[in-house]
Amino acid sequence: MRLSGITPSGHAQLGNHLGAIQRWVSDGGPDDLYFVSDLHAMTTTHNPGRLRARTSEMLAVLLASGIPAERVFVQSDLARELGALTWILECTCSYGEAARMIQFKEKGSGQPGVRLSLLTYPVLMAADILLPGADEVPVGEDQNQHVELARALARRFNSTYGEVFTVPRAVLPPTGARVRDLADPERKMSKSARDAAGVVFVLDEPDLIRRKVRRAVTDGSTGVAYAPEERPGVANLLEILAGCRGGRPADLAGEFTSYGALKEAVADAVIETLRPIRERTVELLADPGELAQVRAEGAARAVERGEHRLSSAMRLIGAGAQH
Ligand code: ATP
Ligand code: MG
Repeated sequence: MRLSGITPSGHAQLGNHLGAIQRWVSDGGPDDLYFVSDLHAMTTTHNPGRLRARTSEMLAVLLASGIPAERVFVQSDLARELGALTWILECTCSYGEAARMIQFKEKGSGQPGVRLSLLTYPVLMAADILLPGADEVPVGEDQNQHVELARALARRFNSTYGEVFTVPRAVLPPTGARVRDLADPERKMSKSARDAAGVVFVLDEPDLIRRKVRRAVTDGSTGVAYAPEERPGVANLLEILAGCRGGRPADLAGEFTSYGALKEAVADAVIETLRPIRERTVELLADPGELAQVRAEGAARAVERGEHRLSSAMRLIGAGAQH
């Protein structure tokens, strides 16, 4: 089964939709689990009210995108189980292994007041993966090293104390599956980008989407061609069009003779792709009772899938009441 999460560190953006959520819907199997990783959004300074609101919003976006309610949960609803397993895995992990994580070095080095959780969150991520017994973890390149850590910890625990955990592997997205920032095609589109001018959010109104696409950075060439290295801005627009409508970017290029026409087509395609998701998200957020019920049921199911592994791990490591 596959497990994948999305951190409510901002509002869901088009790259999250095309690169992750859309695939979770189309390739998903009945046992897969998808979760809003709100505990991972607390490793740097955060605002509690905003985190809570973004967690609900992200859950609503996942449901509105077509992920069945029985496959979603919110990470903090499993805080007891995940917290306990994180501790066990921290006792299986060396300090050096955690400190080697590139993300920690990038985000933590030289910063004053770095939270300890920034160092240990890959171990929480290992718990996310190992608790439900996921064998495939779809992640971006940047998270590959964390899945490797989860593999190492699963193997080490199993060989030291007894077989409990499935050894997971990362499933990387196909190459070229990165949506780039419209205002700066050298950067990938990110929900936590400091400047949102080039970021299309899933919940943006159609007019705003059109304005952002019209302002997308291209280049001084004439004619439309797909050349990711030389013309990254135009290639990005063609990839977005392909992601929304299907087809191959290089073939789609032949349909257009000007950047203006391409941008209008991209704006139309993005608006039509996101419209039903935005409308359904708004409906879901207007009914907090329904969302709360999905959350509660999702948490109960996720706990059920993993609690036997947690109790086996506790018993084998020599903790908990004996029975
Ligand atoms: P942050 O800025 O907080 O890292 P993010 O937008 O990069 O946010 P993540 O929570 O890191 O989003 O990733 C969620 C999922 O979306 C992952 O599977 C990741 O690979 C995918 N994803 C994120 N950005 C893009 C993008 N620009 N293109 C394609 N896929 C993306
Ligand atoms: Mg990211």
